[in-house]
Amino acid sequence: MKVAFYTIGCKVNQADSQAIRQKLLAAGYTPAEPEENPDVLVLNSCAVTAESERKTRQKLRHFRAINRDCILVLTGCSAQANPNAAEDYAEADLILGHRDAKNLPALLDAYLRCGERTVMISSHQRGEVFEDSAIECFPGRTRANVKIEDGCDRFCAYCIIPYARGRVRSKPLPALRTELETLASAGFAEIVLVGINLSAYGSDLGCTLCEAVELAGSISGIKRVRLGSLEPDLLNAEILQILSHCESLCPHFHISLQSGCDNTLRAMRRRYTAAEYRTLACEIFARFPDAALTTDVIVGFPGESDEDFAASLAFVEEIAFAKVHVFPFSPRKGTPAAEMAHQLPKAIKQERAHRMLALAERLRVQFLAAQVGKTAQLLLEQPHPLGGMQGCTANYTPVRLPEATPEMQNTLQPIKITALDACGGLVGCAATAGQLM
Ligand code: SF4
Repeated sequence: MKVAFYTIGCKVNQADSQAIRQKLLAAGYTPAEPEENPDVLVLNSCAVTAESERKTRQKLRHFRAINRDCILVLTGCSAQANPNAAEDYAEADLILGHRDAKNLPALLDAYLRCGERTVMISSHQRGEVFEDSAIECFPGRTRANVKIEDGCDRFCAYCIIPYARGRVRSKPLPALRTELETLASAGFAEIVLVGINLSAYGSDLGCTLCEAVELAGSISGIKRVRLGSLEPDLLNAEILQILSHCESLCPHFHISLQSGCDNTLRAMRRRYTAAEYRTLACEIFARFPDAALTTDVIVGFPGESDEDFAASLAFVEEIAFAKVHVFPFSPRKGTPAAEMAHQLPKAIKQERAHRMLALAERLRVQFLAAQVGKTAQLLLEQPHPLGGMQGCTANYTPVRLPEATPEMQNTLQPIKITALDACGGLVGCAATAGQLM
């Protein structure tokens, strides 16, 4: 039987999909794409914003429309966080929570035998341990997302994730070593350590994120270690000092800001101030001069005044992020922020998102322009529509190498970044290893 996957959301969701895919392929299923008339289609969903929720419903209807007879499986955070999942996702034949999805091969066998719609959403338990879901490969990708942490204990006022993902639990270091050795022998030169609250990695096991990074950097064949999204208040100068000694660590830090205004940060129940975030950013640039700092910002949070928004905008400009993901506040049912007074009209949220996005775009061009003239190692990933190959430098800057060919995919090439082209992308040329000194 043919199985296809469609994943919405974060790198952790992508790693979860790969783990489920591996179980199904081991059970004899063959891989297919959603458009290739699969027998089974697994939609791994996301509930972090109203937009991702809307996309989950839209994709469910779409896949049912184009695959009338396929077995449609819904899993992921939308299923887990939505008590009315059974009714709301009528197109799905099986609706499975995170903990239940690991049993998909057996649940599909049961469904094929009796044809009974299955809704199985086990709630997360205190003391739940990390479910080992080691991945062996990451089809069609040059870098592999390695999930080392799940869950979050923070309960930021706007966030549905702790309700969907449960409490912090981490992958033990020995299991991580085995997984990384497998991925290295499968040819992955770059891995991304990901988690729901990656910065909290090991807090349940008595180990640290630094140890996981050092371990990853010690695996033969792994040349680059990248980090997923991080929380600012779980990082400090001491941790950055240790990380700065990990040669294979990529100097790209995605650290969620959410707002540059202390009033709003307090209302969001975030655990740092703008000044503390600024100090952290300075610590990063002091130890990683070539670093790229990227972030997430919510605009239009309940009660955010014009002055609060102006403070947030000014702070983002001051830090000069390399990239900013902007989210108009969307109330998530079941979170404190959804019940808060002073919910802002859609028009104000959209206007603020527009202004923050315009700033983000200006900062992005500024960051890319500042890369011109630099030398770097480029990991070649895919052919570029304008010719040659495209890849990313260690600080996650995308660069096109016109003279590169598809045979060079997944190789690290010394390059010099020569120009910002008409499309706003960077172009490079081959450099000698000497030029990288
Ligand atoms: S730390 Fe991140 S995942 Fe955890 S509650 Fe806050 S926003 Fe959500």
